[in-house]
Amino acid sequence: MEANRKWMALPKDIRNRLKDNVFCGNCSGATTIVNFIVEENEAGIILQGECKHCGKRVARVVEMDS
Ligand SMILES: [Zn+2]
Repeated sequence: MEANRKWMALPKDIRNRLKDNVFCGNCSGATTIVNFIVEENEAGIILQGECKHCGKRVARVVEMDS
């Protein structure tokens, strides 16, 4: 899967930083995304998953050049 390949191409520390800095509207703050999938997005890729704290759906766009 192309989106997943782009995600895995990022350095691990970058990926961890992105995963640990996802906004959750339910918690009104930054959370960690869990159980996520990676999909194509017009800006790059998007992580679609759940908030580690409350389990609500959260998403994070990762902008990419290509
Ligand atoms: Zn939450």
